[in-house]
Amino acid sequence: MTGRRHDIAIAGGGLSGGLIALALRRARPELDVVLVEGGAAIGGNHRWSWFASDLDSAGTELLSTLRQTRWDAGYDVAFPAHRRTLSTEYRSLSSADFAAGLARELAASTIRCNAPIAALDATGLTLESGERIAARTVIDCRGFEPTPHLAGGWQVFMGRHLRTATPHGLTRPVIMDACVTQHGAYRFVYVLPLAHDELFVEDTYYADSPQLDRRALSGRIDAYCAAQGWQGELLGHETGVLPVVTGGNFAAWQEGLRVPGVTRVGARAGFVHPLTSYTLPQAAALARLIAQEADLPGEQLAALVEGEAARHWRGTAFYRKLGAMLFGAGEPDQRYRIFERFYRLPEPTVERFYAARSTISDMARVLVGKPPVPVLGAMRALLASGAPMAERA
Ligand SMILES: Cc1cc2nc3c(=O)[nH]c(=O)nc-3n(C[C@H](O)[C@H](O)[C@H](O)COP(=O)(O)OP(=O)(O)OC[C@H]3O[C@@H](n4cnc5c(N)ncnc54)[C@H](O)[C@@H]3O)c2cc1C
Repeated sequence: MTGRRHDIAIAGGGLSGGLIALALRRARPELDVVLVEGGAAIGGNHRWSWFASDLDSAGTELLSTLRQTRWDAGYDVAFPAHRRTLSTEYRSLSSADFAAGLARELAASTIRCNAPIAALDATGLTLESGERIAARTVIDCRGFEPTPHLAGGWQVFMGRHLRTATPHGLTRPVIMDACVTQHGAYRFVYVLPLAHDELFVEDTYYADSPQLDRRALSGRIDAYCAAQGWQGELLGHETGVLPVVTGGNFAAWQEGLRVPGVTRVGARAGFVHPLTSYTLPQAAALARLIAQEADLPGEQLAALVEGEAARHWRGTAFYRKLGAMLFGAGEPDQRYRIFERFYRLPEPTVERFYAARSTISDMARVLVGKPPVPVLGAMRALLASGAPMAERA
């Protein structure tokens, strides 16, 4: 116990915790904020990407000082029967640049790494070391917890950052290249040209189980790069196993994580796009909301954000149903057809889908017409909610 009482303690220095600290610094620099991360660095080992259309101007502004790679000439997708270039701008941020940006902007005393938290309550955090960090308001951003209350599957991926021996010639990101062997689940390759001789190549599959098959993923990246003629030096890599939520009891899940008077944010609180598992747009919006409401007593802030989380859950039912279709309808090898068909839709519909802001007419556009998977299977999948997600990723 240091005797000092912070205004706000943020538990977990990942994407949502870091963005909250940044938003507070900008809007309320006089507040004494501490961002407590168990790992050695803020942000872990991630690359976060997003479409420019995912963020409103305030969200764009929040992220603007973080060094990011920008592609202003749109992106490509490729399916066996359909290729397309879309004009939406794309952005990507490495966790190293996230950590460096926060270190530049936040007060030196704000960031505490290598500080695993053993417990938290409305009055502060207790570290595994026994140290107590007292605070007026506590915000829990400790990431997603698998739970039997949610149903669905997993998005499993491995990404490799390469320096190519010669310029690779790619100018736009390839967000989905599904012209690859499907291996019994929806599989695609994602490629970001980070510089004229740098690529980020990620192999992803949607699976029922959270097992990450490193050998298989690594071999597939090797084969994909060889087929494109890309050879080079390995600069880094990431892996991920993200929940693809297709149904469940949101209230029961959240009840199990509730600590009275503590505000839950990020993937832990369900601020996730159910089908893509991305959280950046929601994390940016929540960070600004919390900065605006930073004077609320802890219990009121917790209640306000819980209300937002419940609204987000209700508002994203459509994506959970699409996820159920992806996992439950048709032959696994044919599931790419769902995205192949989706990518024939108008660009604004695609943009709103990724931002989780689809309108009723967008939803109708996605669902009407000749189904990309057999009708009976699709109906069964739409009515089901999937397998429980109790397994730890
Ligand atoms: C490899 C990868 C790539 C991704 N790419 C994208 C993307 O491109 N775009 C996108 O929008 N989403 C992406 N996601 C999904 C999602 O945005 C991220 O998972 C995002 O980081 C979730 O934010 P969060 O703050 O809720 O959790 P996290 O970022 O996981 O942060 C939780 C933090 O809490 C810390 N923590 C946990 N327990 C404790 C404890 N007891 N004590 C102290 N600290 C603790 C963890 O170490 C971690 O740093 C990706 C996820 C992964 C894994």
